Amino acid sequence: MTTALIYPPTCDPTAPYLSLPTLTAWLRAHGERVIPIDANVEAYDGLLQGDAMTITAQKIRAALKNLDKKPFLDHRDQIHYVRLWEAAEDISWVPKAMDHAVAVLRDRTGKRFFNGPGYEAAVQTVQAGLNLIGAAYHPLSLDFTGYRTPFSLLTPEQIKADAAPEKNPFHDCFASIGDRLALENPILIGISMVFPGQVQPGFSLAYYLKARFPGIHLTVGGPAITQILVRQTPEARTRIMGPFDSAVLYEGEEALLELVQTLSSGKTPERIIIGKTDTRLEQLPAPDFEGLPLDLYFSPELVLPYDPTRGCYWGKCAFCHYGLCGSGTARYRERKIPDMTAQLRALSSRHPCRNFYFSQDAFLPATARALSLALKKENLDICWSSDMRPEKTLTKDCCRDLKDGGALSIALGIESASPRVLKLIHKGIAPETMQAAVKTWPGRHCRGSHVL
Ligand code: SF4
Repeated sequence: MTTALIYPPTCDPTAPYLSLPTLTAWLRAHGERVIPIDANVEAYDGLLQGDAMTITAQKIRAALKNLDKKPFLDHRDQIHYVRLWEAAEDISWVPKAMDHAVAVLRDRTGKRFFNGPGYEAAVQTVQAGLNLIGAAYHPLSLDFTGYRTPFSLLTPEQIKADAAPEKNPFHDCFASIGDRLALENPILIGISMVFPGQVQPGFSLAYYLKARFPGIHLTVGGPAITQILVRQTPEARTRIMGPFDSAVLYEGEEALLELVQTLSSGKTPERIIIGKTDTRLEQLPAPDFEGLPLDLYFSPELVLPYDPTRGCYWGKCAFCHYGLCGSGTARYRERKIPDMTAQLRALSSRHPCRNFYFSQDAFLPATARALSLALKKENLDICWSSDMRPEKTLTKDCCRDLKDGGALSIALGIESASPRVLKLIHKGIAPETMQAAVKTWPGRHCRGSHVL
């Protein structure tokens, strides 16, 4: 029995995301066959090419011509016309510049990527290309974090209407994924909706797959869809789920395995499958990236995500909703330090990778330090980046150990410098402490594109 797991557009195509490799590892560890598909990077690999941009430019010219032929433009036409007219400025140069821009972003030598003006020009070209795609599929606004139309996601009917091929710039990519799936004949297709920008494209993909493979069970999971469904009535959930046969709420490992086993035994699964919120991290295998197109990411070198921890040890910020739990974020859990170093060693030797992104809600400084010391002791030549709270435990000695243990960059969560706001949002850290944590970071110098 085969399961296909798909990560839909639109989000960051510079590195794989953790959801598919985590679920793939768990299912494979239990003997299941899994095909992971990163539809996000595949879609952008197809769209951000000179030839594809030429077709996009032709669409824009044709749409302008059609509007020009009209004797009168109503308000909707006028908005469309302005969008096309603004995009038309770029259609003369973007298709010609796109292949070079993408080559700069993927430059394995790093020479062109780490050249400031060259990198900037490449980024501008890609952004202009995304804007052209949006204009060609007006009224779409598209980038690597968002996929919006004025009426996006307002109703299930609107979601279905927006899934039509003529409104969906990812349709060709979805059709090619469908061709591959037709050869594999999976029993289950799972779509992972992590970020808001993936919701409409994820539904569009689901509508396409359901029409093409009506007999294959289609499920959805991930933080974005969990947050949409978790507060709905059963009737509303059924309406919202549209083409999906089931949805997995919260953490997916055990729930997805149960779903595969239920389908394999010929039984009918529940529509809503409730996953855990306290999966024991030390029992999980390392993420498994086999089968993902690791050469395709828009980056000069491979950066793999890894999860030393999950959830948040603070868990009190008023604005926090990280998805895989009812509210706030999930309970904090950690892998064991020897497991972390062994898994990182295995991943870096299995793939040409020495750059890791520790993808988690908030990395406890003490754990980050213990891991850094272990990485140094084991002489593991890797670099890592992660997200932390600007704690007072980020002392000079601690930061020095992190750096010596491979820390390239740390994103510190600083939402406000106002004591009143910090109190209101239950941040639990004073402005002076935040300031000290930022200043403590040793020798603010550049290594590659990252600032230490
Ligand atoms: S520190 Fe981050 S993850 Fe933790 S509760 Fe606050 S916002 Fe959420």
